[in-house]
Amino acid sequence: MSRLEIRDVSKRYGDVQALRDVSLAVDRGVLGLLGPNGAGKSTLMRIVATLARPTQGRVIWEGRPLSEDPDRLRSVLGYLPQAFGVYPKLTAREFLRYLAAAKGLAADDRIDELLSLVNLHEAADRRLETFSGGMRQRVGVAQALLNDPELLIADEIGTALDVTIHDQIMKLLERLIEERDLSVLMITHNLGVAREVSDRVYVMYAGRTIESAPTETLFELPKHPYTQGLIASIPRLTGDEMAEGIDGVIPQYIDPPPGCRFAPRCPYAHERCTGGKPPRYATEDGSSVACYLHDPDTDRFETPTLAETRTALAGTDDVLDGTPAMEGDS
Ligand code: SF4
Repeated sequence: MSRLEIRDVSKRYGDVQALRDVSLAVDRGVLGLLGPNGAGKSTLMRIVATLARPTQGRVIWEGRPLSEDPDRLRSVLGYLPQAFGVYPKLTAREFLRYLAAAKGLAADDRIDELLSLVNLHEAADRRLETFSGGMRQRVGVAQALLNDPELLIADEIGTALDVTIHDQIMKLLERLIEERDLSVLMITHNLGVAREVSDRVYVMYAGRTIESAPTETLFELPKHPYTQGLIASIPRLTGDEMAEGIDGVIPQYIDPPPGCRFAPRCPYAHERCTGGKPPRYATEDGSSVACYLHDPDTDRFETPTLAETRTALAGTDDVLDGTPAMEGDS
């Protein structure tokens, strides 16, 4: 049994279907949730954090549906946001005390421990206005641990930081995961981050999880044409081949194409793809992929390799701009 299970969660806002049948499971370690802006990651995060209710489906924490006890997950959940606002006139210690009180936590005796954990013990009594971006992010890590969480949602962390500080934060997080037996849901649009820290990666596209796999399998043998397009967009450091893009844009959720939402952009789209939503097919290497090309009951279509997809996508306009970050990156 996984710690956190999201089962067939859908979310509608009026006519807009932001999520459609999203399923994923989070165990101990890091699960990367990879997707461009607008893929539905934030909506999903809000549902997990019990800030929004799913229209359909269930969120289950350690075997019990959250709907039966919505406060339960909140008590074991830590949230590490992308940008972390502080009160600049407060010291780090005062600020963490303030946040603990605001959350109704009796955490005073843990604040020194947390400041040491994030290597800020010597700066505990300095005003936050004197802190660098990296130090503020470490205060953000400390505040996410105030309630001693079992599940940490890390939402595009470090995106605004320079590479060195970003690396420091990722290393800090890796250490904390090991020392504190955390489960982490790492939301990111950065392929490098997902590859570096995740044990398993889920790829979201247009409100749906379209592929999941153990991390190295996903990067070495991506199966969904969208994932293949993403991997093909990573520049090769030693080759002379240009990165390829994927033509087109993410569909409007208010009028999404029937069937597979990637069909308007997919070089392999065929009649069946627009008739109905592809189910998820499990493969022998531990992947799960929502694409008819992987239906084991049909031999009509060959499963394309990454090289074939790269060729199929060649000559298109660069929507993916060839950097390891994804489309819609802002
Ligand atoms: S289901 Fe069809 S349109 Fe969708 S990714 Fe697979 S081949 Fe392409």
